[in-house]
Amino acid sequence: MQKISVLLPKPFSICTYFAPEKLEPGTFVKVPFGKQICVGVVWDTPVQEDFPQEKIKPVQTVLNLPIMPQVHRSFINWVASYNLCSLGAVLKMALPIDDIDKKSKKPLVFDKPDLSPSSFTFSNQQKKAVDVLTHAVGFQVTLLDGVTGSGKTEVYFEAVAEALRQNHQVLVLLPEITLTSAWLSRFQQRFKVKPACWHCGLTPKVRRDTWQAALSGQARVIVGARSALFLPYADLGLIVVDEEHDSSYKQEDGVVYQARDMAVVRSFLGRVPIVLASATPSVETYCNVLEGRYQTVQLPERIVQASLPERHVIDMRSKEKQKGYLSPLLIEAMQKAIENHEQTLLFLNRRGYAPMLLCKACGEKIKCPNCSVLLTEHRKKGIMKCHHCDFTIHIPTVCPVCGEKNSFISCGPGVEKLEEEVSRLFPNARIEVVTSDTVSKPEQFEKIINRLMNNETDILIGTQMLAKGHHFPNLTVVGVIDADFGLAGGDLRASERTFQLLQQVSGRAGRSYKKGNTYIQTYSPENGVIKAIQENNRNAFMSAEIEARRLLKMPPFGRLACIVFSGKKEERVQKTALTVMEKAPFLKGVEFLGPVQAPLYQLRGKYRYRILIKSDKKTPLQKIIRSWLDACRFPSDVSVKVDIDPYSFL
Ligand code: ADP
Ligand code: ZN
Repeated sequence: MQKISVLLPKPFSICTYFAPEKLEPGTFVKVPFGKQICVGVVWDTPVQEDFPQEKIKPVQTVLNLPIMPQVHRSFINWVASYNLCSLGAVLKMALPIDDIDKKSKKPLVFDKPDLSPSSFTFSNQQKKAVDVLTHAVGFQVTLLDGVTGSGKTEVYFEAVAEALRQNHQVLVLLPEITLTSAWLSRFQQRFKVKPACWHCGLTPKVRRDTWQAALSGQARVIVGARSALFLPYADLGLIVVDEEHDSSYKQEDGVVYQARDMAVVRSFLGRVPIVLASATPSVETYCNVLEGRYQTVQLPERIVQASLPERHVIDMRSKEKQKGYLSPLLIEAMQKAIENHEQTLLFLNRRGYAPMLLCKACGEKIKCPNCSVLLTEHRKKGIMKCHHCDFTIHIPTVCPVCGEKNSFISCGPGVEKLEEEVSRLFPNARIEVVTSDTVSKPEQFEKIINRLMNNETDILIGTQMLAKGHHFPNLTVVGVIDADFGLAGGDLRASERTFQLLQQVSGRAGRSYKKGNTYIQTYSPENGVIKAIQENNRNAFMSAEIEARRLLKMPPFGRLACIVFSGKKEERVQKTALTVMEKAPFLKGVEFLGPVQAPLYQLRGKYRYRILIKSDKKTPLQKIIRSWLDACRFPSDVSVKVDIDPYSFL
């Protein structure tokens, strides 16, 4: 009998077991754990010698699966230690399936991609980019920086083809929202097969087949949302992170991590190249290029040489008397578009009818009982809804505070209200609304896209779901209803995100030979972000943003971490946060701020306090936080979450 360490997808993580023979690290096993039988992985950690012999149980089964490769085990260790979470929690992300060794009766087949040369005639710029990407060897990060429509996808497909020729697997990460049939059919055109897909909508069987195929190496190309990073690839030779700036790469629930950053780590550990593609790179990535850590290739020109849409900034402050949300200039442009049988996209990043319902008798606003936010009115469904916890009530007719009847007025815009206004102004127009409330399935989304392509739609109204991905040749007018939406609040990345979103939306018009116009409605036309958008001047925006962060020593020039304490009992949460803060170490170059009530003080019925830690770049922040928190005790009814490099400051 041998003692071995087994990593389990549990908070206790590593446990000691007896094995009949020496088992190689990475071997998948089934072991008893309490009353359960649990799947785990033999881990490289030395066994805990002082663990009482009589308590050690034997391994139940050694699973007939390939071993989890060493690089993947290192990756799991790395992710846990960087993000300050348990190894078991990370393993759980790597084992997101039931019956892991079960063989399906009809397993999914992953055909070999066709690797004959691309049928495209690449431009000189594209050729250069292909050349750089296909010659990357070892750990090499390349930013593929090109405007929308410049052919980035076709170009990175060539890097994919090259890695496949060398018999490696390839991972392409996409924001879930862009993992559409449009992307998949592009892939299929190039490689004549479907890639393996990994996202939250898969059935258990497909998940298991795909997971096994990643481990066996049968799946050659895997495309997926951020969680695909944790599949146990047999031999990963290239990673592509498309839309690398997208904030959905940051996972906020469970293990908090930045998938783009972890993808770079994964490629470092595997000594393989990685491509980060974007038309609006993140400040972090851009700085890495400036400092020479990443290389870059640029595609500054669109393939279809259309004239760029003209960008008009509309100052809404001077429109006091105007009733609706659409300015006369935008209305006029929409009118013209309809006359010319062209299409309009109106962008408003607010779901529902109105973000607030206000009693005009007493001033009461309808709040969520579980969260520190107002409920959003969804008039079509007749409900008020919390966008954080999904708490829902019927739209009240009587004010719960003053008892006044029918006293509520809807304040602020939402896509439903905008739709009302648009149908009033254009009674004959065919209007389509796209938000996560109206479109929940990919098929629904596709139908809407098809209607648009077939010119069965005149006006499309939507949230950020519409910002990227598709190419609508007949779309000539884009209206941004509330460009200031994202700028408020103290979020570090508010400007960056707004710039990226507005840049993407603005680029939607005039993608073909027809001239496009973008109208940006704002109450702060002097704002740097709006100015940069108006002038289509990314460099100006980037330089200003980088300078501001450098001055404030904010990421990437300094480091941030957040600790959020939450629980149902308000005083307990506050007390825990205070006690932890008292134990904070005194260190040069590290600031501990708080504890304060989090901006979203109540969330899903829990109260939240926050400590922010700010340090210079060289400080080993994780080490400091770990030893600090290890010395603290936490009551079981207060949960503590560490967020390294936080994105959300709520
Ligand atoms: P991006 O990813 O930069 O937005 P895409 O790769 O989607 O750009 O390319 C935009 C469009 O141009 C696609 O329809 C693509 O098939 C087409 N395209 C790309 N490169 C070429 C080329 N060399 N010749 C012809 N069409 C191309
Ligand atoms: Zn709520």
